[in-house]
Amino acid sequence: MLEGTIIKGIGGFYYVKTDEGVYESRARGLFREEKITPLIGDKVRIRINPEDNTGYIEEIKNRKSQLLRPPVANVEQAIVVMSIKKPNINYWLLDRFLLSIEHEKLDAIICINKTDLIKNDEMNEIKNIYEKAGYKVIFTSIVDDIGIDELKNVLKDKVTVMAGPSGVGKSSLLNIIQPNLKLETGDISKKTRRGKHTTRHVELLELGLGGYVLDTPGFSALDLSFIKREEELRNYFNEMKDINYLCRFDSCLHDKEPSCEIKKRVESDVISKSRYENYLKFLNEIKNIRRY
Ligand code: GDP
Ligand code: ZN
Repeated sequence: MLEGTIIKGIGGFYYVKTDEGVYESRARGLFREEKITPLIGDKVRIRINPEDNTGYIEEIKNRKSQLLRPPVANVEQAIVVMSIKKPNINYWLLDRFLLSIEHEKLDAIICINKTDLIKNDEMNEIKNIYEKAGYKVIFTSIVDDIGIDELKNVLKDKVTVMAGPSGVGKSSLLNIIQPNLKLETGDISKKTRRGKHTTRHVELLELGLGGYVLDTPGFSALDLSFIKREEELRNYFNEMKDINYLCRFDSCLHDKEPSCEIKKRVESDVISKSRYENYLKFLNEIKNIRRY
């Protein structure tokens, strides 16, 4: 028996990466009866058929995490990539990605790309907002070759999903880190036009430095319907989740309530205003979702 990781699945076959190479494998029929479908990212044990050198998945190890979209097991962290210009950084969107990542209980890292296109004070503002919220912020530029080693350190030995809008440089960054990936880069219209004719399947890409990245960006569906109650939202804000209990009311939404610790911290700039304003926008949106 060999241990490995499912890195790809096509037409009923699973490709399992082991220390001895990648094995095309089938899954034990029993998994279907138990309603367990092997997922990309699953740690498995396979038996090798010596006749044709294919594998047979005998066991799926317990999952540490499970993403729904894309459906992948054991992802450990998400890197949200935003560009500072072209397209302009959008804090609302960035906070939205962070919210989904917190909801999935993954570690979040922020990568701000295309720093060759701006001045330092803009970078300081971003750093200030997000380090206060407890996030690591990495600034990168492909043009000036900045931050690539720092990004490598974060990716090393981890299973990572990249998040972020189109055109910010996700593929370009991965191509620099792992040149043999040859991911398609370029302007958005070109990519989507070609993308239509290729069927998408999810794949874990192995990094030479150790670790894997998903070949598709995660967290593209950004509607907030996964949040069922207004009180949940504050648990997905990193700078709030551990201190919500400090407000006078247990169920404080940090909105109009008196003696609110969060609002105090926003006033004294311990929590950044931009994050808090987006929190209120999301709160309002959740209030207005029609539930049937
Ligand atoms: P993705 O959609 O997030 O994968 O973005 P791409 O990697 O396809 O990049 C979109 C465009 O941004 C391409 O034309 C890249 O050449 C360009 N780009 C990527 N990184 C940088 C950077 O650091 N600086 C500048 N100026 N352009 C970049
Ligand atoms: Zn409060």
